[in-house]
Amino acid sequence: MTYNSLVILTGAGISAESGVPTFRADDGLWMGHRIEDVATPEAYARDPALVQDFYNKRRRQLGEVQPNAAHRALAELAARWKGDFLLVTQNVDDLHDRAHAETPPATGFSLIHMHGELLKARCTASGRVCDWVEDLDVRHDSPFHPDGWLRPHIVWFGEMPLAMHVIDAALERCDLFVSIGTSGAVYPAAGLVQQARRAGARTVEINLEPSQGARQFDEGLYGPATERVPEFVERLLQR
Ligand code: NAD
Repeated sequence: MTYNSLVILTGAGISAESGVPTFRADDGLWMGHRIEDVATPEAYARDPALVQDFYNKRRRQLGEVQPNAAHRALAELAARWKGDFLLVTQNVDDLHDRAHAETPPATGFSLIHMHGELLKARCTASGRVCDWVEDLDVRHDSPFHPDGWLRPHIVWFGEMPLAMHVIDAALERCDLFVSIGTSGAVYPAAGLVQQARRAGARTVEINLEPSQGARQFDEGLYGPATERVPEFVERLLQR
């Protein structure tokens, strides 16, 4: 069977072998922190220094990591795919972006960071977003508004993920949905597979082990992303 409209969802697992720690490690902490201490609007209001420091460290760490074979295989797929291809990542790192910069995608491809990006900052007053590579100060004056500060452009728990209308529209017409390296624990990302199923799409999961939502998938490919993703892409391109 050939497919025309592809949606791929990625999570922290695709970046794990690049050296970016995943979220749901055995201890349930993200880099030693409880999510309610570093990844909620309440945490930012209560302790902005801790929250800015946490994301400053994550941002700095991007300089020490590189895209891996799984990011590169998806970039190759995006360069050679003839139909529509929406890549939705929950990751706030820039490893997909770098892989696609190395291998430019065909027209019909787009990438959405539904949970924001470490390399962007957002004004708390105007909502305007800008590129950001440096550390952010505790109360970093916004260049956009006299009453605003710059905060990380990260979707915290309790906030609305970005570009959901674009994702919904792509899922309505997609005929192949692939989920890679995500635990299926964070909504609404974990519900995208159900939307794809309702649209009649074939659904495939690639993960180290079956995720919480594994039963929603027609096919499961289990093992490290740097092995399973290039194999899957090769198979898809040979159709
Ligand atoms: P998660 O940490 O909850 O789950 C990661 C999943 O990846 C697990 O199911 C695990 O079995 C799998 N996995 C681990 N190593 C793998 C490998 N080598 N190959 C294939 N699969 C592997 O991640 P999530 O579901 O993306 O949710 C975490 C949330 O935290 C996201 O919303 C994201 O924004 C944020 N986060 C982002 C990053 C990043 O940008 N790289 C890192 C940590 C957390």
